[in-house]
Amino acid sequence: MSALSVPEKFKPYTRQSIQQARQWEWLPFELREAVQVVSRVLPFRTNEYVMNHLIDWNNVPDDPIYRLTFPHRDMLHEDEYARLRELVLVRRDEEEIARYAHSIRMRMNPHPAGQMTHNVPRVNDAPLKGLQHKYKETVLFFPSAGQTCHAYCTFCFRWPQFVGMDDMKFDARETHELVAYLKSHPDVTDVLITGGDPMIMNTRSLAEFIEPLLAPELAHIQNIRIGTKSVAYWPQRFVSDRDADDLLRLFEKVVAAGKNMAIMGHYNHAVELRQEIAQKAVKRIVGTGATLRMQGPLIRHINEDPKSWAELWTTGVRLGAIPYYMFVERDTGPREYFQLPLARAHEIFQQAYQMVSGLSRTVRGPSMSAFPGKVVIDGVATIAGEKVFALQFLQARNADWVRKPFYAKFDENATWLDHLKPAFGKEKFFFESDEAAPERKVIPLSLAAAARAHAGSQSNAA
Ligand code: SF4
Repeated sequence: MSALSVPEKFKPYTRQSIQQARQWEWLPFELREAVQVVSRVLPFRTNEYVMNHLIDWNNVPDDPIYRLTFPHRDMLHEDEYARLRELVLVRRDEEEIARYAHSIRMRMNPHPAGQMTHNVPRVNDAPLKGLQHKYKETVLFFPSAGQTCHAYCTFCFRWPQFVGMDDMKFDARETHELVAYLKSHPDVTDVLITGGDPMIMNTRSLAEFIEPLLAPELAHIQNIRIGTKSVAYWPQRFVSDRDADDLLRLFEKVVAAGKNMAIMGHYNHAVELRQEIAQKAVKRIVGTGATLRMQGPLIRHINEDPKSWAELWTTGVRLGAIPYYMFVERDTGPREYFQLPLARAHEIFQQAYQMVSGLSRTVRGPSMSAFPGKVVIDGVATIAGEKVFALQFLQARNADWVRKPFYAKFDENATWLDHLKPAFGKEKFFFESDEAAPERKVIPLSLAAAARAHAGSQSNAA
């Protein structure tokens, strides 16, 4: 495919507009109906590039990118689908549809891993909207203009943001509070700007969030990371968009300021990096001195084939990217549809890992982003006659837990950390003891006020 043959203008499709896409007519009636019904609960958005270049329409509905972006009826329980279908197609009662859709969403664990209860930093017990601080060295920042994506993934763990559950939405309108918070936290080295997809913003808006982080008083911020799926869903963002060159200049500016500009590229399948324009995007990003890491979850129906992962990592490495994480699909949304047993996830990771050279073995996984931290499954072993999972924390709420091996009874059906039981007759995992409880992030008002005053004096001086 030539880069010239791809559409230059971004064209999204949603539930309201998908009928305008020429491919809509190619879908059998049941698949179209499922999109209309399930998209009342889960977000649906795709775009012309994904439709024209990433989905193989001869292979629908099994095509991995079709499953990645189009809702399916099996994402809801059978009784839920039947009732919602009746409300949407027969009764057409909008109020009742909204009420019922909300009740289904609430059973889907909309904010896993303590996102709303334990990760939000607080000033005098008032939450700082748009920030998360789970691990000591990294603060997550959710700019309001970056809380959508070029297309939505059906498995997305941030899906509540896209369906109007506003009370559960993270977003920040400006960097003022972020900068004040960072000034009072000199142990923070990394800021992850995330969403949604911050690359949905134009370069000028993005610069307004990034440039304040280059200030001399934030010298302790060494890494500015941006989490993005645009490398797969809209690589034109780095190649042919009107302000693509300005974006690359912004990356260069961060690098020239002595910081690491780290693009955390979200890839789900090898097909996403087979496109010429996607490869060009990687080259242009790393050509600025920025780094590009590849990460994504392992998802049933989408990327269970180890060969796809091996191809993705080796292609990425050839272009200058760094394989980083294979995640376990999170315990949220339509998890029954997407989840794989941890034992199977480990096998797939191991097989893919064995297919690639040492340069791709920077990848870690399969890793669960669970409440206490990122837990990786190192292997399955038999120790003292007991079959166990060998596990460790790659990241943790308590830094002392990191890289401390621990063991869980082998369970062939377990799909998440909370399904596992400690091995060797223990009652609890070491991180479940009372002494291990994570501290809450409360910063005293006086400190926050001082940081704000300092921020004010700095900007006045400038
Ligand atoms: S691109 Fe990321 S944030 Fe957006 S829908 Fe997909 S997984 Fe969710």
